[in-house]
Amino acid sequence: MSIAQKIQTIKHAFPPQTRLVAVSKFHPAEAILEAYDAGQRVFGESKVQELTEKYHILPKDIEWHFIGHLQTNKVKYIAPFICMIHSIDSPKLLEEVNRQVEKSNRTVQVLLQIHIAQETSKFGFSPQECLDFLNTGQWKNFKHIQICGLMGMATFTEDQQQIRGEFQTLNQLFFQIKNIYFAQNENFKELSMGMSDDYQIAIETGSTLVRLGSSIFGGRN
Ligand SMILES: *Cc1c(COP(=O)(O)O)cnc(C)c1O
Repeated sequence: MSIAQKIQTIKHAFPPQTRLVAVSKFHPAEAILEAYDAGQRVFGESKVQELTEKYHILPKDIEWHFIGHLQTNKVKYIAPFICMIHSIDSPKLLEEVNRQVEKSNRTVQVLLQIHIAQETSKFGFSPQECLDFLNTGQWKNFKHIQICGLMGMATFTEDQQQIRGEFQTLNQLFFQIKNIYFAQNENFKELSMGMSDDYQIAIETGSTLVRLGSSIFGGRN
């Protein structure tokens, strides 16, 4: 199947609230253009340098989403054009994104990354850390960001029940946070979960943004 056919087939089974983030990391601009010509506009990248290079040569109506770990000292390179950052994993990073985006006189959408997998990872807020941070109210001073929801990655496992349980945990946290902090805020509506191996479970448990790489573009070296 061509890239265009894969996108069409995958999206055909999406419910209306779910959007596709085509994860193009490690794939060349030609592959992105093939997806673009099939109507895809939202692309995800996880490395700052690779993203900025692609941004400069590709059509300007692409919505770029950053999905990888973002170092604070690199925020400035993507601040002028990034549409959404899925991977806000510390208060310090959020503050820096606000500061850099302000210089471009823009607003950027962000998601708070929550650590839900069993694997130990350096990245992401625990559910409690996230609640504690939101409780400080600091984020209300950041006028150049919109907190639009949560992102998480399930454990890399064959155990479907475990994956489902982790996505359900994230879904429940989403509604808890929505009710406490964002009840009047219609921007807070995104739940970014699901990759090529587990996106069907993610959609069943409420995902609004699935991040698919290999199932669209093939394997990465
Ligand atoms: C690479 C990556 C994806 C896409 O993974 P696939 O298994 O190729 O679909 C999704 N989310 C994040 C955070 C990634 O780094």
